[in-house]
Amino acid sequence: MSLTTITVKMSQFWSKLVHELVPYTPGEQPQIDGLIKLNTNENPYGPSPKVLAAIAAANSDTLRKYPDPNASHLKQALAADSGLDINQVFVGNSSDEVLAHVFKGLLKQDAPLLFPDLTYSFYPVYCKLFEIDSVQVPLDENFEIDIDAYDQECGGIIFANPNAPTGIALPLSKIRLLARRHPNRVLVIDEAYVDFARESAVSLISEFDNILVTQTFSKSRSLAGLRVGMAYGQAHLIEALERVKNSFHPYALDSLALAGATASLQDNNYFTQCIERINQTRAKTISSLEAIGFNVLPSQANFILARHQTQAASELFTFLRSNKIIVRHFAHPRINNFLRISIGSDDEMQKLVDVLSERCRSTS
Ligand SMILES: *Cc1c(COP(=O)(O)O)cnc(C)c1O
Repeated sequence: MSLTTITVKMSQFWSKLVHELVPYTPGEQPQIDGLIKLNTNENPYGPSPKVLAAIAAANSDTLRKYPDPNASHLKQALAADSGLDINQVFVGNSSDEVLAHVFKGLLKQDAPLLFPDLTYSFYPVYCKLFEIDSVQVPLDENFEIDIDAYDQECGGIIFANPNAPTGIALPLSKIRLLARRHPNRVLVIDEAYVDFARESAVSLISEFDNILVTQTFSKSRSLAGLRVGMAYGQAHLIEALERVKNSFHPYALDSLALAGATASLQDNNYFTQCIERINQTRAKTISSLEAIGFNVLPSQANFILARHQTQAASELFTFLRSNKIIVRHFAHPRINNFLRISIGSDDEMQKLVDVLSERCRSTS
């Protein structure tokens, strides 16, 4: 939204807090025919047919009833899938909503919240909304999290892992160290992209009473439109989230979302096939882009952050757009010469590489 729109709409009736909010800007969702959409890390493959069948079955007379406020079936399926107890699982209407409860229930403390200078850009927005002090800790020169830089007083720590928009994953050995160095604070690992990566911090939960892991059905499970997210942690952390949720939106997940998400967990075959395909396409795309002069950060996610050696990212962004391909370009000074490109289907990525090769050959 442009600044002028905001100015025009400003109102004397707003609360002081609303006046000061800087809302999150989601990637655009343009309705253009034939567009190749590589800007919001959606899955190029649709959800499992079993998910669609389960949603269709739930689309019935039973919609007159409220859904199960405890989402027991879904939580049970998630507990079985992750090897945890049901009281170590929380679900919400998207992981963005789960994160909101996390900020309110666990990260709002008497010292600043720490997160990287480059990470999911929703965190600073929630800090404003929930009036939480924060300190942004710079990633190192390789765009990696330097855990020593977190040796300071804090009310909690949060980052995405693999991180966004870099795609780089912090190894579990370092997450362990970080959790040990801050025994009285919660360490939140946002694993929105973990299914494309090698390891998950869920395996640390039995060992640490201060690690909370959030995940989502939006990316790896092809269900961004269904809005289902979850958190895993020891029962005392989950209970904090339940208390916030039941003070805000007890029926957070609707009946269709509950049915679809539960069915998705019962078709892990389909799920792992999609992931493998996307990871193969990622590897192929990275080598094709490197061959035409791009540097690509080592990604364990379903997107890559890439910089061309001679071409400006802002110009490539516009050029791609004029060829009906949209990617993401961030204004942040450290990465304003990079493009973040979601991994689409093989065909889509081939088209991207073809279009870029032409440009990079003709002008370099
Ligand atoms: C996409 C994303 C989310 C939000 O996921 P939803 O469940 O769709 O709200 C959270 N964290 C990160 C890092 C993401 O990229």
